[in-house]
Amino acid sequence: MTAFEDNLGKAETYLARFREHGVLNHIGGEAVPAVSGETFQSISPVDLIPLADVAKGGADDVDRAAKAAKEAFSEWREMPGAERKKLLHKIADAIVARAEEISFVESVDTGQAIRFMSKAALRGAENFRFFADRASEARDGQALRTEGQLNITSRRPIGPVGIITPWNTPFMLSTWKIAPALAAGCTVVHKPAEFSPLTARLLVEIAEEAGLPKGVWNLVNGMGEDAGKALTEHPDIKAIGFVGEGRTGSMIMAQGAATLKRVHFELGGKNPVIVFADSDLERAADAAVFMIYSLNGERCTSSSRLLVEDSIYDAFTAKVAERASRIKVGHPLDPDTVVGPLIHPVHEKKVLSYFDIARSEGATIATGGEKADGPGGGCYVKPTLFTDATHSMRISKEEIFGPVLTAMPFRDEAEALALANDVEYGLTAYLWTSDLTRALRMTDRLEAGMMWVNSENIRHLPAPFGGVKNSGIGRDGGDWSFDFYMETVNMAFAT
Ligand code: NAD
Repeated sequence: MTAFEDNLGKAETYLARFREHGVLNHIGGEAVPAVSGETFQSISPVDLIPLADVAKGGADDVDRAAKAAKEAFSEWREMPGAERKKLLHKIADAIVARAEEISFVESVDTGQAIRFMSKAALRGAENFRFFADRASEARDGQALRTEGQLNITSRRPIGPVGIITPWNTPFMLSTWKIAPALAAGCTVVHKPAEFSPLTARLLVEIAEEAGLPKGVWNLVNGMGEDAGKALTEHPDIKAIGFVGEGRTGSMIMAQGAATLKRVHFELGGKNPVIVFADSDLERAADAAVFMIYSLNGERCTSSSRLLVEDSIYDAFTAKVAERASRIKVGHPLDPDTVVGPLIHPVHEKKVLSYFDIARSEGATIATGGEKADGPGGGCYVKPTLFTDATHSMRISKEEIFGPVLTAMPFRDEAEALALANDVEYGLTAYLWTSDLTRALRMTDRLEAGMMWVNSENIRHLPAPFGGVKNSGIGRDGGDWSFDFYMETVNMAFAT
């Protein structure tokens, strides 16, 4: 038996429960169907065959979940930080113990290659450990003495919060948002994306089996405009942590206005990788290829614009095209696969439409630019590189969110900066140069929340994560996450 066949067998074992029993909501410690009894189908992007019937929650389900979260909050907020720490570490241990199951289910549900999903599951555990270790100090503040007065500042959890997540790397992203909320002492109602609901169900189960009290973490599946909207409007939900598209963020802001919701947004990107002639071109090419073609390019931090100094433009883009054309597209459970099927036919249609847009705009398709054959006949597209692009083209400005890279030349530093910054987004930027002074000048002026110099995206969890401009509001990581999930209060004593 090959490793691929072995993987297929294991996946079927892990998916059997979903095929048989579907995906239920989870409210107040109980697995429950939607109040309406309605379900929707989650399909596999590999072959478009239904994987599970999923509870289609709406306003009634959200109301129950919010009430459960409110009830659980009074006890959860009082649990000493050291105990919360222990519990969150237990959740991390349980994630590690079930990492294979999580990664196989995620891989089939999202189309992401198993080689990346195994790491994503373990990163989910790391997220829990990271915030667990900070739970004890989350409330610490400061004492400020002045003439006749002592000010004591501290933080307290804001209350029950809503977490709304997208379909790309849903397991890892959900842990990144939920772990700090729990560590801060908040209770949670999670609304996962409708295209990829399976691992959110595993996650809440894992947490309760590890000892998380009932009602602390609730799960409501459903459509964004229905369950998602109800969550953002619910008066008992004090804040919304949202990861997704900018236009959904705008809707959430409007929906949450009546109840004055605090919001934290991680949104889209059109992130540049800027390559100067003086950089290590082999490393730069590897990183550029990795940052757009790994995770199917369905990654908010992917470098989807390649800006190359004109003296090396032809040679460098040829290098990238050659590497891209060799990338293995295939079944996500095949250990050799790098690019699996895109999440859903709706998204595949969007990505394919940009191939026509590129042609009509006059760009050259250096490699890819069409659907790929893949086992099961699902949403496979070829890793694609557009060259001869100009800055005004839609392929240079809009987030395509697939394995699709747009390359443009630049003359000098000033033009590189102008091109990099002239988009609505500002999530990440990647810079390749051996000139340190130039790197300092550029990074000081690049409009991006996160920049990497001579490196692909390597995360250090205590560092802030988030975007500027239309790429987000607020920061995650370290203490920034706690600032969002907590209120800072001050008490002044006359002395
Ligand atoms: P999306 O905005 O369509 O959906 C995200 C979530 O919002 C889903 O759970 C959806 O059901 C819900 N939703 C939709 N309408 C809603 C409404 N009116 N009220 C409340 N909730 C609603 O995004 P997507 O297509 O699932 O994800 C892809 C997007 O996410 C891309 O733009 C990507 O760049 C972005 N993203 C950003 C980051 C980051 O860290 N900056 C990380 C991952 C993904």
